[in-house]
Amino acid sequence: MTNIAIIGSGPSGCYIADMLAKKLKDAQVDVFDRLPTPFGLVRAGVAPDHQGTKNIVRQLERTFARENVRFVGNVHIGTDITYQELKDNYDVVAVTIGAVKDRVLGIPGDQLEGIYGSGEFVAWYNGHPDKADLQPKLDGSGIAIIGNGNVALDIARVIAKTPSELSSSDITANAAAAINKAPVQDIYLIGRRGPLEASFTNMELSEFAELESCVTLVDPDQIPAALPDDFDPRSANTVNQNLETLRAYSANSADSKPIRLHIMFCASPVEISETDGHVSGLKLEKNRMVEGRAESTGEYFELDVQTVISAIGYQSEPIEGMPFDHSRSIVSNEDGRVEQNVYTSGWCKRGPQGVIPANRAEAMTVAKQIISDLDANSEASTKPGFDQIAALLDKRHVRSVSYADWQIINNAEIERAEGDKPREKFTRVDEMLALLD
Ligand code: NAP
Repeated sequence: MTNIAIIGSGPSGCYIADMLAKKLKDAQVDVFDRLPTPFGLVRAGVAPDHQGTKNIVRQLERTFARENVRFVGNVHIGTDITYQELKDNYDVVAVTIGAVKDRVLGIPGDQLEGIYGSGEFVAWYNGHPDKADLQPKLDGSGIAIIGNGNVALDIARVIAKTPSELSSSDITANAAAAINKAPVQDIYLIGRRGPLEASFTNMELSEFAELESCVTLVDPDQIPAALPDDFDPRSANTVNQNLETLRAYSANSADSKPIRLHIMFCASPVEISETDGHVSGLKLEKNRMVEGRAESTGEYFELDVQTVISAIGYQSEPIEGMPFDHSRSIVSNEDGRVEQNVYTSGWCKRGPQGVIPANRAEAMTVAKQIISDLDANSEASTKPGFDQIAALLDKRHVRSVSYADWQIINNAEIERAEGDKPREKFTRVDEMLALLD
């Protein structure tokens, strides 16, 4: 028997588990997660109104239907079980812990109340237990969202949607109520570079055209007439579509709907101002683009905002004892190999870039590498696997959550959902565990 441990039950972890369980008939694959709920970013990162993307869960569920795959939820590797203990008890360890920590803006005022990282904001409206109590301050008329990626668009869209537009999403009732109550009138989406360099994709940008109560505005002078001749052909299609969508938005009338989304380019945040400890404005410096790079111009302007959300990317967090590249905030690795018998894949391997299908492709490569390394090693396994871990958990009074337990939580969430909502998430670990007693 080959005992394999995977840390993290997001898409990367599930895809590796699935392939190893399928190809290695004598393997037992144990997927650990610090939460009682599986599926990582699909549950807590994908936008609650993107249920089509969340449906990928159907595919991931099939992994846990395999006889030789075990879900071990509510077990924090690094706290409940150490990384060393995992290595001591498993033949192979795969680290797929994603990247959940927000990068910080690093400008004066960025620690004020009313400033949030996209990770925590998204975790809040998606019901992640770590951020259930965030209660972001949304009591002003202006909100700035920094960044030109799909996460920034997700946040702008969720804030701009009406209750009826969110009614078939799985946003938590608490977050939906807070967003509905917020007196927001102007949302500013701010990119430090231009439309040619924005990393959002066209499907996500186009969704704003359909919003009931929010009109999207862009300064037509910020939209280039065409792509430069030497533009990277791999992104030409998406960027051309984006320019077309932006041109359509630039013709919109500002007073056509009660909320305005202002898409602004070539501006870097330089300072967040405060009044009585609360955010009262955002100072930005205009940039000019030089060969794809943003260069500052020394010209400044200020936005009247009371909340700032930075959607500027994520970082992985080290687990004690695990080789970690602090300069890049990823698990140290060479093509997915971390150290003897330890592998990594996904955002913690290469940084927070790429959609779920890209992570699947990478997970397949890493799983193949694991299989080939196991094939090359003729020594029989002597590692005890989960029995020893279960004994440690018992001794430490850690209540692990099995896949059958998760199904009880899952069913309870589905049952208590009202109206068109697919589920009403439990946002506290205690609430989830109480269902299992
Ligand atoms: P992203 O696409 O890398 O966007 C990050 C943005 O932050 C960029 O516009 C970047 O600008 C900007 N930025 C970074 N540091 C900054 C600073 N100090 N000041 C101002 N701006 C700064 O990352 P993401 O939006 O977090 O998304 C992560 C991944 O998930 C992406 O691959 C994304 O496509 C994917 N995702 C997909 C979907 C979907 O398909 N619907 C939804 C959500 C996320 P520069 O370009 O100038 O660095």
